[in-house]
Amino acid sequence: MELKKHLQPHAVLIPLPLQGHINPFTHLAMKLASKGFTITFVGTESTHQQMAKSQSLKDDGNPFSHAQKSGLDIRYAKISDGFPLSFDRRANVRQFVEGLSHVFQAHVDDFLENLVLSKQNPPISCIIADSFHVWGSMIAKKYNLVNVSFWTEPATVLTVLYHMDLLKSNGHFGCHGKHEDTIRYIPGIQAIQPEDLPSYCQDADPSSSKYVFKCIEDAQKADFVIGNTVQELESSTISILQEQQPFYAIGPILPTNFTKSTISTNLLPASDYTDWLNTKQDGTVLYISFGSLANLSKQDILEIAQGILISKVSFIWVLRHNILVSGERDILPLGFEEETADRGLVVPWCSQLAVLSHPSVGGFLTHCGWNSVLESIWCEVPMICFPVTSDQLTNRKLVVDDWRIGVNLRTGRLIRREGVAENIGKIMSRSNEMKKNVEKTRMIVQNELSDEGSSEKNLNQFIEDMKNKILQKN
Ligand code: UDP
Repeated sequence: MELKKHLQPHAVLIPLPLQGHINPFTHLAMKLASKGFTITFVGTESTHQQMAKSQSLKDDGNPFSHAQKSGLDIRYAKISDGFPLSFDRRANVRQFVEGLSHVFQAHVDDFLENLVLSKQNPPISCIIADSFHVWGSMIAKKYNLVNVSFWTEPATVLTVLYHMDLLKSNGHFGCHGKHEDTIRYIPGIQAIQPEDLPSYCQDADPSSSKYVFKCIEDAQKADFVIGNTVQELESSTISILQEQQPFYAIGPILPTNFTKSTISTNLLPASDYTDWLNTKQDGTVLYISFGSLANLSKQDILEIAQGILISKVSFIWVLRHNILVSGERDILPLGFEEETADRGLVVPWCSQLAVLSHPSVGGFLTHCGWNSVLESIWCEVPMICFPVTSDQLTNRKLVVDDWRIGVNLRTGRLIRREGVAENIGKIMSRSNEMKKNVEKTRMIVQNELSDEGSSEKNLNQFIEDMKNKILQKN
């Protein structure tokens, strides 16, 4: 009986409390629970409040209440992230994420102590913390838990970060456009241009990314790393990671049957645009979104808007919160919304998967956030890439140079409206090569998720290895 209890893993999942991390963590929780795990999912008071507000959640705002009713053992808790509820986390993301390493850690520690003392059934055996937390190994050690780090970006980015010493010794670290020579010395990465490195490695002032480096140092201490990526898409970098640490590519971690999804993770209210999309012909609408954070300059937005006007494309543009300069809300060119009223929608937020999977959508102008890339592949939508920061720069290389499922919006620092219009034309043309490639890529990804595919096998292997590790600890 005791042995049985120990064999049923009880994992505590703690995402970085930002949309791009909550989404894959939520679906990971569902996946693991459907494989027999007990899950305690730790949200924050702030994410809870945003989710409840945006979705009029019942059942005390528990996003998993439907899953629980269907028999999955997912427990939901919320703790303070250490910031006042009124603090604008999206607009001040760097300050927010760095702040999490201090007070949030103490709240996590308290929470786990109480959980352990409350003698959960089955007992807590493992922590699955976001690789962007600095304290995973400390907490796992303190409570004798198996330490799993969940990497929500591509393996290529993790490989680069694990080889920062090489970038330093070759003068590419913090080079910020000073060296243009191709980098060929990172194991598993045949060639990468300095400008395609994650921004943390390019920043002229590396101290600004100190937090990320601490996280990477901590992730290297994990018993296991699970990655939201696909073995066949990044096989050489994954092999290199596996030489260093048990790494399992188990992606893409997406909600199954998401058009009828019973679990919504939106932190902002999303309207349903299906009726509007239904009025458009197949493949004619461009979906435009730069993710969940404030990341665009006024100049970029203006050039994109002018490019849209020139192209005459139909579009849904998720915009309002992406503007870097706070207070500037009326940033579109005068008359833009009136001029495009018959063919375009500018919206504050949407359920991206529902939009991307609509047959009318034929292209995605994206900042190349990793979730957006995976979702676009899954929905067979080719991309126009406009990366801004962090892993997005490397993700662009994978999309455009390696998999050939997208085009570049910018070469160099600036974008021009004519270039925007030209690229929209390229990606929206029905017979383009990128469309065929993205269909093939989706097929690969779908196969890997099947029973015999690598993602499913890796997930099962991870579960088996984890159970063995739990037994060793008891
Ligand atoms: N998203 C959404 N509605 C929107 C914009 C984004 O649901 O209007 C979701 C999107 O589906 C993705 C996540 O928010 O899962 C954004 O993650 P990503 O890694 O693409 O970018 P980030 O916001 O982290 O920069």
